[in-house]
Amino acid sequence: MKSFDTVVDHIQKTYNTKNFIPLHVPRFRGNEKAYLLDCIDSTFVSSVGRYVDRFEEMMAKIANTERAVAVVNGTAGIQVALRLAGVSSRNEVLTQALTFVATANAIIYNNANPIFLDVDLDTMGLSPKAVSDFLNANAELREDGCYNKVTGNRISACLPMHTFGFPVHLDELIAICNKWNITVVEDAAESLGSMYKGQPIGSLGKFGVFSFNGNKVVTSGGGGTIVTNDVQLAEKAKYLTTTAKKPHKFEYYHDELGYNYRMPNINAALACSQLEQLQEFLIRKRELAHEYAAFFSSKGIKFRTELPNTKANHWLMCIELADKKERDSFLETTNAQGVMTRPIWQLMFRLPMFQNCQRDSQKNAIFLEERIVNIPSSVR
Ligand SMILES: *Cc1c(COP(=O)(O)O)cnc(C)c1O
Repeated sequence: MKSFDTVVDHIQKTYNTKNFIPLHVPRFRGNEKAYLLDCIDSTFVSSVGRYVDRFEEMMAKIANTERAVAVVNGTAGIQVALRLAGVSSRNEVLTQALTFVATANAIIYNNANPIFLDVDLDTMGLSPKAVSDFLNANAELREDGCYNKVTGNRISACLPMHTFGFPVHLDELIAICNKWNITVVEDAAESLGSMYKGQPIGSLGKFGVFSFNGNKVVTSGGGGTIVTNDVQLAEKAKYLTTTAKKPHKFEYYHDELGYNYRMPNINAALACSQLEQLQEFLIRKRELAHEYAAFFSSKGIKFRTELPNTKANHWLMCIELADKKERDSFLETTNAQGVMTRPIWQLMFRLPMFQNCQRDSQKNAIFLEERIVNIPSSVR
């Protein structure tokens, strides 16, 4: 069994401290305080304001989409994006079991069911081959969409998640989904700033959804964004997330079931200042990733790097240990010495609320579940 003390030593040198080193913390080095004070002075701290408008404009530029709609968090954003992608009651959504729970929760919030398909070993995200194999074996294309022959339900959407900011094989996945008349919604919560063949992640599906939670690349405290090139659907997203209220000088009239999923202006103020620093954060994270890559390769440990034709944002960096035993030993050694490390998520079908969901073999997901560990990745 390897000793991981040199790893602890290296990470302490990396962050220049012997104190506790967290996995990922926000950095506030720009206009955060100025914008927050300005926001408070304006009294517009709540559901509307010019920081929300500005944030949406900035996000549409960054994602290279026609529109961006600010929402209260990433989970709510995925829920609404799925609804607008046509996911309704008793529908099914193809996704991966190797993800954070919010991905699967957002499907259930639409009274739909997830179908958990395997990931690719190289991307750690939803595998086009797994999707294709599943559909060929279980689905039939009817005039009004794709149906699951086992359950009789419609498969209306596919929700790939770009794990830790590493893009999935989007071209292949989108081609398969187009063939089967399934709408692609990207769970881009972890991948703000990641690129696929020169295009921002989040811009290639019908919708992309980002999170601005405190542990992500940049933060608004809590928040999310839905991006899309479909202007009509973007307006609908804004409408649904602002209680579906018909604009009127004084009357309150709501013509369908909406949500209060707005991002408060005070959060948007924080988000604007953070987005101003995004490119610099990405550069610093890339530098850190290069250092880690050199160090871990010298130790014979596999550090996960981006694939050709893609750019990762290096949100949470990770290594792949030889097996579960070595993984557990790594987790023990590092955490005991104040260097925070964490295994990848437990697969969704192990959780009580998802254990009866349809799924495939999960061969790659299980392999990665037993071996992948996140290491401290904050911007220095
Ligand atoms: C963070 C995250 C979300 C949800 O974001 P919140 O803003 O915390 O609701 C969704 N999916 C994935 C994969 C995430 O990592």
